[in-house]
Amino acid sequence: MLDPEIELMRTDKLRKLQEERFIRQVRYAYENVPMYKKRFREKGISPDDIKSLDDAHKIPFTVKNDLRDHYPYGILAVPLRDVVEMHASSGTTGTPTVVTYTERDLRTWSRLMGRTYSAAGANSEDVIQNAYGYGLFTGGLGFHYGIREIGAMAVPTATGNTKRQLKMMKDMGTTVLACTPSYALYLGEAAKSEGYDPHEDFNLRIGMFGAEPWSEEARKKIQDTFGLRAHDVYGMSELYGPGVAVECEHQNGLHIWSDEFLVEVINPETGEVLPEGEKGELVFTMLTREAMPLLRYRTKDLATISWEECECGRYHPRIMRIRGRADDMLIVGGVNVFPSQIEHVLMNIDELAGEFFQIVIEGEILDRLYVKVEVDPKHYESDKYDEAKLKKKVEDELQAVLTLRARVELLPPGTLPRTEGKAKHVLDLRKKV
Ligand code: ADP
Ligand code: ZN
Repeated sequence: MLDPEIELMRTDKLRKLQEERFIRQVRYAYENVPMYKKRFREKGISPDDIKSLDDAHKIPFTVKNDLRDHYPYGILAVPLRDVVEMHASSGTTGTPTVVTYTERDLRTWSRLMGRTYSAAGANSEDVIQNAYGYGLFTGGLGFHYGIREIGAMAVPTATGNTKRQLKMMKDMGTTVLACTPSYALYLGEAAKSEGYDPHEDFNLRIGMFGAEPWSEEARKKIQDTFGLRAHDVYGMSELYGPGVAVECEHQNGLHIWSDEFLVEVINPETGEVLPEGEKGELVFTMLTREAMPLLRYRTKDLATISWEECECGRYHPRIMRIRGRADDMLIVGGVNVFPSQIEHVLMNIDELAGEFFQIVIEGEILDRLYVKVEVDPKHYESDKYDEAKLKKKVEDELQAVLTLRARVELLPPGTLPRTEGKAKHVLDLRKKV
């Protein structure tokens, strides 16, 4: 454990620490970020009204668009000369969101990433292959800083060049793999087709997988393929990057590092704070961020939180798995469809390579849902493969879950594009009105 005093802090002490920091941080944001001062005034409140964590609900939310509207430096609370690094989200859907760090922010983030590795069981003996994208994306450098923090050895392969990736994994004796779960699935497939026996040729024991939602089935597949323990890591660029929350060795929920993040769960429609255990949207306040303080930041990620003590001895509350994003939901012909439901069905049909799928929605007057999925390579080669029969089976099983009929297209193994970063499973071709 990297910071036992903080990591093992009991709930009452942790709450007290959060409260002190929260009260201080609210004032800091108010005094240094004009956007917050203006919002507080509009709501008729001042930092003097925030006396405890129970007052948190009085503070207005911050949303992703606030960052876009204040592009590039509008939420900066320090002079630019004190900023030592910036990152940005992909920005494929408009103005990128820029995030900034002071030297102290980078220290905090590195420490959180170090804790994140060590909670998953990594230590200074490990050889850590970091296949997240280095650059503006927070994944690469975030996972890199964490390696430095625990004194392990970094193999900074970054994304891409899958063959070299596998060669490094073998030759360097990589023990910890950090990448998106989609890429881990692809690496497993590529390893086999390149003639590696992942259990024999690789020395992997831990996986640090995150940056996108993934299923229990995907976890099982990756663990079985490589013989490692796969840990879920959660974060986002607005909250430093990865390292907000991680699964400990018990793999039963992701501990949120609550000395740095205050979490609330809200009803996404009404904004009302929900009691512990209810599913809703995660809202975070950063408790010590200098460059870009964010108060009550709405993530759009849906989950439940548990404050129960974990078997590992940590009291930091746990995210009991991210259940997808509020804006992931597709409405097809009036029916709500979550891509994760489709993935779940596909992953549970043995004849399929259910992780390689694509959802396509078309329609001008009537919506049509297509699901393209690859057949498992072994099944595809076998005499038992009956395309029409399997297609009907998949369509029936999808219908049972979705209550609407999707048209299924079965694809030969290796047909769909593979990803080195986050998977793009949905192609919505409907004209937006
Ligand atoms: P962008 O994709 O806009 O560049 P980020 O890379 O910061 O931004 O992505 C953050 C988002 O990724 C989160 O809000 C969440 O939806 C998703 N995400 C990150 N980690 C996980 C995880 N472990 N499980 C599910 N979703 C995750
Ligand atoms: Zn734990």
